[in-house]
Order: sequence, then C-alpha cells, then structure tokens
Amino acid sequence: MKKTRFAPSPTGLLHLGNAYSALVCEQWAKKHDAALFLRVEDIDFTRCKPKFSKQMLDDLTWLGISFDVVSFQQQRLVLYEQALQQLIDMDVLYPCFCTRKQVNATLASQKVNRHLKTEHCLEAYPGTCKHLATELRQQQMLNMPYAWRLDCQTVFERVGKLCAWQDVQGHKHLFNVLDIGDVIIGRKDIRFSYHLCVVVDDAEQGITHVIRGEDLRSSTPVHHVLQRLLGYKSPQYLHHVLITNNEGVRLAKSKGSPALQALRENGVTAEQVRQSLGF
Ligand code: GLU
Repeated sequence: MKKTRFAPSPTGLLHLGNAYSALVCEQWAKKHDAALFLRVEDIDFTRCKPKFSKQMLDDLTWLGISFDVVSFQQQRLVLYEQALQQLIDMDVLYPCFCTRKQVNATLASQKVNRHLKTEHCLEAYPGTCKHLATELRQQQMLNMPYAWRLDCQTVFERVGKLCAWQDVQGHKHLFNVLDIGDVIIGRKDIRFSYHLCVVVDDAEQGITHVIRGEDLRSSTPVHHVLQRLLGYKSPQYLHHVLITNNEGVRLAKSKGSPALQALRENGVTAEQVRQSLGF
C-alpha cells in the first residue's frame, strides 16, 4: 500500500502555506488510495512548543483533513539514537566542536562565500575538525560539546560518486555525493538533526511517497545518502510549488502569512480556505 505523510514542525501556528502543503498531501493520498500519516516533527525542543502541536491538530481537524496515523518525533528518540549509533559505528561521521561563529569566521578568512550553495550543498564547512589527531579528538570529546558531521569523502568512497533519488514519476535526479557537504547529522544541542529523524521516520513508517515543499528539495540528496548508508528503501519524492502572496512573497510564518487560527476567528470557513488555495 502507498503511504505518504504531512510532517509539520510545531514552531508556530499553522499558516496558509502549511495548509496548502497539507492539502497537497491529502489530495495525493486520495488520488492514489494511499494512507496519510501526520508526523509532528517536534524534535527541536528549543523551538517547538506543545501548545503549537495542540493547535496544529485542531487546525487540521477544522480544515477537514483526517489522518490514518498520527505520530510525534519526541516519542521516537530511541529509534534516532539507534540510527545515529549505526552511522557512528560505520565511521561515516566525525565529531565537530566548532561553534557557528567559528565556522563563519574560518570560511570568511578562507574567502569562501557561505551563501554560495550548489543546488545540493546545504552548508559549507571548512573541515576544521575533520582531520584532528585521534588523541586530541578523544580528549575534546570528553570536555567539549560536539555535533556529528557526515564525512562526505568517506561516504563517497563507500557509495560512489554519483547517486540518484527518484521522483514520483520515476525520473532519476542525479547528484554528486561530494556536493552535499559535511552536513550535521547529530546536533550539539538536541542530539539529532532534522535529516536523521526524517530518514528514520520515513523508513520506519514505511513511507513510499514523500510529498513536501520545493524548499526541501536540497535536503533530498542528503536523505537519499542516509537511506543508502542505513540500508533503508528510498521513497519517491514530489516537491510541490511554494505558494506566494500577491506581491510574490512566499507564504511563511516569518513573513506574516495569516495563521489558520486567526482566519477561523475572523469567520473564514474551512471551505473558503480550501477554495482560496485551489482545492
Ligand atoms: N518538518 C519539516 C518542516 O516543517 C518538513 C519535513 C519534511 O517534509 O521532510 O519544514
């Protein structure tokens, strides 16, 4: 059976952009007779709040979307720990002690433009902690907080240079493994990165089709590589367009897109929201 999911992060109130994404997932699930999962991505406890999770569930019910399965990442930490450990044991991660400030300063001194991303490269990292002497590394691990970064070069040696993820039409999207950069897989503060949790959840929940916004397209190669390393089956992907307001600005919480809760309080009906978004 086909399975897809809507996976919002409760860092604020659901807005029209999120509603659009949820409705695209619902429409796709109905059309393909697929099970629809709601995954509350509340892994980042520094930004996610239970009150937003609760409001999100209310808003989605109000919008008339029903889900076959509802899950919360905070209840699945054991699974993420196992996967992180598996990657550490495979020697494809290395501990990184750098602060964001240090990374930026080093990149600036090397004249690397950290905003200069390729289509796939998510973050530039100057490699400061990559080649630390074993003794120093072990000593620092005892005394300093650290993140776990993916060692792209080692991944390249394990899985080869070119990989490809597949879209829902079966088209292959080739990418160079070295282009994804040494992304953070285990975070210093909350232990697990978004990338790790998403990949574990999609595999463990048997998601066959990932429907999500175009803004996450650049994460897909990272997810594909993690699936390869962890021995998971890769889902097929559809990155939907991001809707914009009349001025062409993407609808997002940060850009003041109206919250569903506010629309609802102002008497807007769920039907009107659906229609205004083209459903
Ligand atoms: N939780 C992510 C977000 O709200 C989406 C994750 C995904 O669909 O892969 O942006």
